[in-house]
Amino acid sequence: MGFESFGTVSFTAEAKVADFVTYLEQGKVMATQCKNCGAKYFPPQMDCPRCLSTDAEWFEVKGSGKLITYTTVQYGPSGFENDAPYTLVIVDFADGLRIFGRLSRDIKESDIKIGMDVKVVPVKLADDRISYEFQRA
Ligand SMILES: [Zn+2]
Repeated sequence: MGFESFGTVSFTAEAKVADFVTYLEQGKVMATQCKNCGAKYFPPQMDCPRCLSTDAEWFEVKGSGKLITYTTVQYGPSGFENDAPYTLVIVDFADGLRIFGRLSRDIKESDIKIGMDVKVVPVKLADDRISYEFQRA
């Protein structure tokens, strides 16, 4: 399974990191770490822009992170028109990993707090598509 089944709108089917989608289907949100310099990447990438190594390995994003900032989208861009409103967040995890994504609709906007603990989990979308979102930890 490649990137054609990822997210609401896919922009590419082929990628070095297509295994990301297979991992989501297995219930895991994965990031990559450069084996040469140790840099961690999400979205995952197999080529390290820091040291130019192409030797990376996958690791699972576990535990909770802290919500750094968020915004609620009222008018979605092309492909997401019917999804709005939805909330986008940036979350810091303890090991220097920073992840951008959607907050679960189960969390009301009035309950969102900067610094709150959230975890990242795979979610099934319509039409057999898959993505990830942040939920209360
Ligand atoms: Zn590197």
